Amino acid sequence: LKARLGLGILAAAALLSVVGLRGCRPEPGIARVVLVSIDTLRADHLGCYGYTRPTSPALDDLAAKGVLFEQASSPSPWTLPAHASLLTGVYPSRHGLKAHDRHLPSSVRTLAGAFMRGGFRTAAVVNSNNLGPRFGLDRRFQDYLYVEERPDQREPSTRITDQALDWIRQHRRRRLFLFVHYYDVHSDYRSRPEFEAEFVTPYRGSADGTTAQLMAFREGKLRLGPADAAHLVNLYDAGVRQMDAELARFLTALQDDGLLEGTLLVVTSDHGEEFLERGGVLHGRTQFQEMLHVPLVVVGPALAGGRRVATPVSLIDVPRTLLSLSGVEAPRMDGEDLTPLLHGRTPRHLVERDIFGEADHNNQEHDITRSLRRGASKLHFDRLTQATALYDLASDPKELTDLSLRDAGAVAELRKRLDRFLELRPEPAPPVRLSPEEIEKLRSLGYIR
Ligand SMILES: [Zn+2]
Repeated sequence: LKARLGLGILAAAALLSVVGLRGCRPEPGIARVVLVSIDTLRADHLGCYGYTRPTSPALDDLAAKGVLFEQASSPSPWTLPAHASLLTGVYPSRHGLKAHDRHLPSSVRTLAGAFMRGGFRTAAVVNSNNLGPRFGLDRRFQDYLYVEERPDQREPSTRITDQALDWIRQHRRRRLFLFVHYYDVHSDYRSRPEFEAEFVTPYRGSADGTTAQLMAFREGKLRLGPADAAHLVNLYDAGVRQMDAELARFLTALQDDGLLEGTLLVVTSDHGEEFLERGGVLHGRTQFQEMLHVPLVVVGPALAGGRRVATPVSLIDVPRTLLSLSGVEAPRMDGEDLTPLLHGRTPRHLVERDIFGEADHNNQEHDITRSLRRGASKLHFDRLTQATALYDLASDPKELTDLSLRDAGAVAELRKRLDRFLELRPEPAPPVRLSPEEIEKLRSLGYIR
């Protein structure tokens, strides 16, 4: 008996050491993982991020039940590279999806693939051509549904919610990973009359919130001033409020079916939106905070409610964190495991780290701008002009005062770190040929001119 007991202890110790080495001891009670991305959702337009308008009661309530990351960044200011990073845990320079004529290289491992190998059933319901099977982001999702987006949509995307709920109910006895993507907040800025009535004040100008008009502004065919920008913000906020109501419907249905218990739930976004802060509109061109600062809320079994994490993190950290919490081995990724932060610990390696932004879009050339954030310091760099700018996000969160002339030492230090990142050599992303219909579709959504 003693010998058998000894062997048992040895076996248990061996098992523990394996688990310890991999660093992924599952949190108790995680039956399913649901990752929700709300396209184009600025963090600073949500109540839980300090916005004073009532745009987000459901998300605020969710944040109170879980952990909110106050300083989460997207690695890119537009949909395709940002989501590719969210679904692979690596920077755009590594996965290579920086333009619409690229396909995810087979060498890049995905979050869905890791969950599948870990015994999870995987599915995605997406509402953007950028996430359609075209670019390879459907890899290792066993069920993948692309619901076509319409720029002029006024009704909430109930189909996304309904399909997501159907799938979870159908597979409720399995361990699940589900990715849900909503496009409602993205332009055109349109929502149902009751939401517009709540946020849109009388306005005499011609700004209508359509992508087509915003693109015309970009091309210099029309002028927009501060009153127009304020009206666009009103339309956008009405859309955020409508989206929040749809999120509430999703969460209530899960709750009513007893499916919220045991669910590790993440709500985030891929990038923000500009309303003339730098003289522009839409997104994709700069690395400023109105583009990169995204919401990130994590709710799950064994996570304390109402915790707020001030440490800067990135969307590239989400995959490793979800895998770690679920006890699934993660492939090599650029992102970090944020589990310590979720539990209120702040290890040094998560504080003293570089967080990069890259892969801009719709500039004269793609992928010109770069940013590097280290603590509260943020460096902007233009690859073509070699121009740099430095901001202190602690005292200047809107990035209005460039400190680069005042603090040349900090610029030099951050440039050195950025140069090292720029040496990152990706696996070449294989090209894909776009059909005329696809090109027209991208044009109508504002992705190409
Ligand atoms: Zn997007």
